[in-house]
Amino acid sequence: MSAEEISSLRPDGTAFPVQLDDAVLKQTLDPLSFEVLRKAATERPFTGEYTDTETIGIYKCKACAAELFRSETKFHSGCGWPSFYAPKAEDAVLLIEDRSLFPRVRTEVRCASCGSHLGHVFEGEGYDVPTDQRWCINSVSMFLEAK
Ligand SMILES: [Zn+2]
Repeated sequence: MSAEEISSLRPDGTAFPVQLDDAVLKQTLDPLSFEVLRKAATERPFTGEYTDTETIGIYKCKACAAELFRSETKFHSGCGWPSFYAPKAEDAVLLIEDRSLFPRVRTEVRCASCGSHLGHVFEGEGYDVPTDQRWCINSVSMFLEAK
């Protein structure tokens, strides 16, 4: 699967509020974080730092530090990636139809501030959570600010 480049534009053609320079990010981020955030790669399951973390705090975008998820909405899905049942705020994330595994169509989750790739959201899987959603997010796309 070839990684896709992250656009600096939103699907409606307007620019993301935070414009990041990939050349700078490549210097400051570790290689895997860069591949995930800026090229929509996926970390291997059960390898991420936050998969089973229960620390209380706020998960922030590793590229731009925007607040993305609260530890209160994190749950143990068993899927191998940190899973949440809701974002911190509806406008913290941007959803994009992802046809990279066509015919399987997935919903990609991006940071609404800088457009970086975070993961995918799945619905109706039957998890016992308030929204019946699993926000499946790469550990390396975030950092946890503990309370
Ligand atoms: Zn961001």
